[in-house]
Amino acid sequence: MSEPVASTKSRKVPRVLVLGGGTVGLYTAKRLRKRLGNREAAIVVVDPRPYMTYYPFLPEVAAGSIDPRWAVAPHRRALKGVDVLQGKVSQIKHADRTVQITPEEGEPYWVTYDHLVVGLGSVARTLPIPGLAEQAIGFKQVEEAIALRNQVLNRIDVASSTWDPGLRRKMLTFVFVGGGFAGIEALAEVEDMARAAVKYYKAIEEEELRFVLVEGSPRILPEVSEELGGYTLEQLRKRNIEIYLSTFLSSCVDGHVVLSNKTEFDAETIIWTAGVKANPVLQDSDLPLDKLGRVICNAKLQVTQEDGTVVPDAYAAGDCAAVPDLTQPGKTCPPNAQHAVREGNHLGDNLARVLRSAEPTEYSHKNVGAVASLGVYKGVAQMFGRLKVRGFLAWVLHRTYHVGAMPTFNRKVRIMAGWTGSLLLRREVVALGAIHDPRAEFRAASQPAKPKTQEAPPREPELASAKPAPSIPAIKEESGSPAESEKQNASKS
Ligand SMILES: Cc1cc2nc3c(=O)[nH]c(=O)nc-3n(C[C@H](O)[C@H](O)[C@H](O)COP(=O)(O)OP(=O)(O)OC[C@H]3O[C@@H](n4cnc5c(N)ncnc54)[C@H](O)[C@@H]3O)c2cc1C
Repeated sequence: MSEPVASTKSRKVPRVLVLGGGTVGLYTAKRLRKRLGNREAAIVVVDPRPYMTYYPFLPEVAAGSIDPRWAVAPHRRALKGVDVLQGKVSQIKHADRTVQITPEEGEPYWVTYDHLVVGLGSVARTLPIPGLAEQAIGFKQVEEAIALRNQVLNRIDVASSTWDPGLRRKMLTFVFVGGGFAGIEALAEVEDMARAAVKYYKAIEEEELRFVLVEGSPRILPEVSEELGGYTLEQLRKRNIEIYLSTFLSSCVDGHVVLSNKTEFDAETIIWTAGVKANPVLQDSDLPLDKLGRVICNAKLQVTQEDGTVVPDAYAAGDCAAVPDLTQPGKTCPPNAQHAVREGNHLGDNLARVLRSAEPTEYSHKNVGAVASLGVYKGVAQMFGRLKVRGFLAWVLHRTYHVGAMPTFNRKVRIMAGWTGSLLLRREVVALGAIHDPRAEFRAASQPAKPKTQEAPPREPELASAKPAPSIPAIKEESGSPAESEKQNASKS
């Protein structure tokens, strides 16, 4: 883009500035570009990330069933004919038609526009729980899904060579807080992967893995019926997952977990999936917000004042917008991908109408249902309100629905190719934990050599006697030939 600073020059081509290149941003920009040529509208998308993330696939990314790169759609490839600015929106002054953007490096700058689309999504809703910020990880970004997978597999690796039982138990305890869709899918997928992984470890028994779910309300998966929520609970309990309902996380300082029902234990891995809130940057704007911090809209996806007066040239949709649900009067559309994709497309169409001096139309969509994966070949789904599906068929529905909704043909093909590969060759359970500190090895190699000491080296017999071999029950018992060990390993799996 040639104009990174505020300009009052009148433009020949109206500029549509799309804040956020997520689900709403990507679909709005794509649809608008399809409807209008370059001479009718200039479209600019702003996002700190160079890609849109398809969140419903994050649990499968964490489980290693989908390569992380295939669960995101790169803006430069998916948004042809659209300008992309990488940076964070830091202020919105709609009265002046300007937005401040803070790039990753360099000074913040202002961009002007004629029409504004707000698709800034949501962020994790956290609570001031002691230890949470230091100890837990969220589950909202693809990087978090990659880190979670590496963490779980790495803990299994390290625990298999750790003889202190307390430490092993802490390493092999994984706590998920939040029983909504994201939390349950993440828990079920990761647990499934961990059980598949420990089959390759002689020193770890499956029973040593401890997965814990903590949910504040008396039920899980509020998006489906109580019956299906109950079925899911039953399935998770059968897999020895510990479930605490109507229970809150009270503290987790240094990994010592304390629950509101006085249960206490140690866990090195705590995943926080207890809800989202509208993007807080909206507080730094002059757009009208509701009590939950969402931009107030009408069903045409136009921003409005509380009394319904339309704010000219401003539109919003998705998790950060309070869009009236015309199928359920008095309610707003729930924050999910099903609505965000459709609202994005609808908004693209509406903007094309407005720019051609036609009237925008109202958005209305009746929820088609919800599908969730609970691990390979396991799932739960509720379609069209009444149709309840469980097990393998629900899992197939989940994969079919989401691969259909995943943006770009390229990604659909790559995801399906990956699934086919895993079905034929089994899933991959290697952890690349060192990726989180790739310079560690090089730093160590760059250390100057230690000066030689003058002390005489200890005599070998003393050295040997000073270091008793650790007692390793699991390995000691299996100290046969490599062939024998292979056989035992195979019988375990
Ligand atoms: C783990 C997980 C699983 C889910 N599973 C499902 C599911 O199975 N089914 C379903 O229907 N829904 C699911 N959802 C919810 C669904 O994905 C979201 O409701 C939907 O993506 C919201 O779209 P959006 O465009 O409003 O927000 P997003 O897609 O989050 O887009 C917001 C964009 O704004 C960008 N952004 C943030 N801050 C700034 C800033 N300051 N400046 C510029 N850009 C910024 C972000 O980088 C992002 O690209 C899931 C969500 C999660 C987290």
